[in-house]
Amino acid sequence: MADRILITGAAGFLGSHLCERFIREGYHVIAMDNLITGDIRNIEHLMKLENFEFYHHDVSKFVHVPGELKYILHFASPASPIDYLKIPIQTLKVSSLGTHHLLGLARAKKARILVASTSEVYGDPLVHPQNEEYYGNVNSVGPRGVYDEAKRFQEALTMAYHTFHGLETRIVRIFNTYGPRMRLNDGRVLPAFIGQALRGEDLTVFGDGSQTRSFCYVDDLVEGIYRLLLSDCSDPVNIGNPDEITIMDFAKEIMALTGTKQKIIHKPLPQDDPKTRQPDISKAKKLLGWEPKVNRKDGIRITYEYFLSLSKEDLYKNEHKNFEAYIRK
Ligand code: NAD
Ligand code: UDP
Repeated sequence: MADRILITGAAGFLGSHLCERFIREGYHVIAMDNLITGDIRNIEHLMKLENFEFYHHDVSKFVHVPGELKYILHFASPASPIDYLKIPIQTLKVSSLGTHHLLGLARAKKARILVASTSEVYGDPLVHPQNEEYYGNVNSVGPRGVYDEAKRFQEALTMAYHTFHGLETRIVRIFNTYGPRMRLNDGRVLPAFIGQALRGEDLTVFGDGSQTRSFCYVDDLVEGIYRLLLSDCSDPVNIGNPDEITIMDFAKEIMALTGTKQKIIHKPLPQDDPKTRQPDISKAKKLLGWEPKVNRKDGIRITYEYFLSLSKEDLYKNEHKNFEAYIRK
């Protein structure tokens, strides 16, 4: 009998890659998602497998899974700023109530649980690069607070289950990750720029573009998560690619890759948009023997090819047009 793993947020970008990885490792994967920001097409190819099953369920409600579980990966949560600004209450609930349900389930099943945290727990950081000892600089009542504070609460609750109940827990702090199966219109910067280039629109750089991000290719992230799950580290661990770039230079890279003749235009910087972000990955290197392997050029090319393969309908879906809502006056 294969070991059974529950993966929440399984129809999303990261969840679908995790499902594939654990199937390849010989696990029986129980995928759970309410499809609020995910897409069933991301896991459709797995449906016919005997060691894969899908539960359409909102984890902010009580979670029941029959049978044994060895591991739980809690990845359900909107992740793009435009998504979590559109559904702020669900965002708060999934990382608070949802996490509580999954910790309870882990306890009942004597399973080890890994929760997906984020570099957003550092907010607009005053320490650079960000190491795990930094407590962060978060505006709890700003527009991003619904995501950042929910994730911080998730970490606190997870640690409490570890210290009080002795539950085996893991916390991964994920930095900006990209790759195939991101939604072209989810508002995150890479799909936004590539989508604009493919539609022949100008690229929208928010602010003057001097803010930085550090982009990690999805396969590297999945490897880091896999190693963290199997490690004995219950403290939070950063997983990301330290190769930092300004958003302006990133826009130029996308223009060169796609060959678009459009120009860069500027839009106002959203409130509380972090000015810098770069992971310090010393801990992951030391404890997990992990570091990213895929450089940005190669990773973006693979992702671009994925976006090129999408239908015109996907390319022109216009939920992304809601940018102005994302930019609070
Ligand atoms: P995504 O939006 O593609 O996937 C999230 C999935 O969770 C979706 O399929 C969505 O339908 C599902 N979901 C949301 N609320 C749910 C609920 N209440 N019940 C069941 N399913 C629910 O986003 P992603 O980029 O794959 O992010 C996955 C996780 O990783 C999130 O927890 C996110 O906070 C974390 N994360 C991602 C990144 C990144 O760069 N991609 C960075 C930091 C953290
Ligand atoms: N951004 C941008 N243009 C866009 C979308 C995003 O300049 O069309 C900027 C955004 O303001 C931020 C960075 O790109 O500084 C990364 O944004 P994203 O939404 O991908 O995620 P974040 O890292 O802010 O959570």
